[in-house]
Amino acid sequence: MQKIKAAVCREFGAPLVIEEVLLAPPAMGEVEVTLDAVAICHSDISFADGAWGGHLPAVYGHEAAGIVSAVGAGVQGFVEGDAVVVTLIRSCGSCPSCAGGKPTICETPHDTVNGPLKTADGGALEQAMACGAFAEKVVVDQRQIVKIPADMRRDAAALVSCGVITGVGAVVNAAQLRPGQDAVVIGAGGVGLNAIQGARIAGARRIVAVDMSAEKLEIARAFGATHGVLATEDKPWKGAQAALGGRGADAVLITVGAIPAFEQAPRYLARGGRAVMIGMPHSGAKAAYEPVVLAAVGQGLIGSKMGDVVIQRDIPWMIDLYQQGRLKLDELISGRWTLEQINEAIADTRTGSAKRNVIVFG
Ligand SMILES: [Zn+2]
Ligand SMILES: [Zn+2]
Repeated sequence: MQKIKAAVCREFGAPLVIEEVLLAPPAMGEVEVTLDAVAICHSDISFADGAWGGHLPAVYGHEAAGIVSAVGAGVQGFVEGDAVVVTLIRSCGSCPSCAGGKPTICETPHDTVNGPLKTADGGALEQAMACGAFAEKVVVDQRQIVKIPADMRRDAAALVSCGVITGVGAVVNAAQLRPGQDAVVIGAGGVGLNAIQGARIAGARRIVAVDMSAEKLEIARAFGATHGVLATEDKPWKGAQAALGGRGADAVLITVGAIPAFEQAPRYLARGGRAVMIGMPHSGAKAAYEPVVLAAVGQGLIGSKMGDVVIQRDIPWMIDLYQQGRLKLDELISGRWTLEQINEAIADTRTGSAKRNVIVFG
């Protein structure tokens, strides 16, 4: 075991504690990645607040990029020195979901409590989301990483591994939006902006952003939204329908966790349209629908985890689009912080800013 520095959650709702922890060398099929950047995602904050339970102490962090610094036995296709993004999508490769092309919903349980992390005195330390990337290094399964160009900015690359694949993937893989169709994106935060640029990339005719903040609607336009509607308006779906020529949207992407957004989403849909649930409300929260409407006009409500991506298939094309100037990543970064500043960076993210704060190492 080697000593590394990590930001540890010891109590839900309390600040993270920077401490030395122990990291095991990569086992069979695993790699060690020395991180250059890790972004702060709202999921990290929900976990640290205790919204979804989980073991403590724990290390969160799951939007990371760095350099492969050690490879375990049986690793194929990666060598020390490779630049990679690290994702939380740990998949076995052989369960029905993986075999069916949906590794994001892999059915094989994975023990994160007895993973590669231990506290300095050898106690249990949860490698949350199979990553534990609020740390100088991670040890993860080789299926969780994807190679990136060596010269690619790692702070931009880190964003791809969660917010970007979740938003763009939900449009392309879950909603399967076709060129010429209309999209409504509820929430113009980190994932919402990526759903918006995903819809632009997919060739959407019109893209309506819906958000509580006029400032975020303005940012949404820079990412490809053709119209903006304030969610604070009375019946905001009326404004969206007006923008869509009186018809609803072929796809509605719900990128926030607020229950009213889930309950209102079907109102934005055209006949035959589908609403994709991406945002993650706290456990136990419930939404109400009028099923007869959905049944009568053939609308769909589907959930999408991590954009239903196959990272080895989807991340390389997204990186190409970034390098061609067609996918915005640098513009998603609002601030850069050191690991020691992580609690300030989290506090800043809590203010509801649209973009991502990134911890950069070294
Ligand atoms: Zn995330
Ligand atoms: Zn699996």
